[in-house]
Amino acid sequence: MSYEGDQSGELYVPRFATVDGLQAHMRSVFHVRNEVYLPGRAPRIELFENGIHDLVASLRLDNQDLVATALARLTSRMFCIADSLEGVSLSEGLEAKFPESGCLFCGQPSCACGESRATPYVAWPPVRTRQDWSFNDWQNHLWGVYGPANKKRGIESVALRLHAEKGELGAIENHIARGTIKLDQVVPAYSMGTGDLGAWICGVGSLREINVLKATEERYADGCATCGGAQCVCGPAEFDHVYPSLS
Ligand SMILES: [Zn+2]
Ligand SMILES: [Zn+2]
Repeated sequence: MSYEGDQSGELYVPRFATVDGLQAHMRSVFHVRNEVYLPGRAPRIELFENGIHDLVASLRLDNQDLVATALARLTSRMFCIADSLEGVSLSEGLEAKFPESGCLFCGQPSCACGESRATPYVAWPPVRTRQDWSFNDWQNHLWGVYGPANKKRGIESVALRLHAEKGELGAIENHIARGTIKLDQVVPAYSMGTGDLGAWICGVGSLREINVLKATEERYADGCATCGGAQCVCGPAEFDHVYPSLS
């Protein structure tokens, strides 16, 4: 798939050819660390939130390397959230929310939604036709559907949408606490919720001409970027911000 945002003119050949493969890899690197230092879903959602602040700070500094690092860390933290519940599948969530034909909301191949839009019916489980897509294939697809709309929104507005999507995960937690979501809907809700996080991460990456999978693989393909372990042995200090002076 060609990618308008890729200036190299070369097709990127990923180490992790599918989203499922990337998810399994991130789990193998970080699962024990996640279980020990980030038990449950709430601390993982907060860690993602910290990553959004780093991303916005990196954008304001206009530092491309820091933006790429922030996007890679957000991708890792998205998988950290997915790792909190058995059965959560980012690729399944992406397939449910982002049809190959175009925008789920307005039905157009290139999204023409306004800001206020009705919540559509989402079929679950989705018909699986794109399990062979890499995360970069998804970035390309999303760029085709949402690139023009995201260009109009502007990059900071797109980055801040990650707050709204993180808020959606908080809304699932509220439903769980109040007993207003059936147990068998929780895993689908988290699959779609993490899929939404991935989509907006890709949205920021495309506006910055950053291949998010490539940035993620450069940081994590051989294991943890901080301790170097194929299975991470970091302490909680690894959760520090990208930009050290940020509180
Ligand atoms: Zn639309
Ligand atoms: Zn580590």
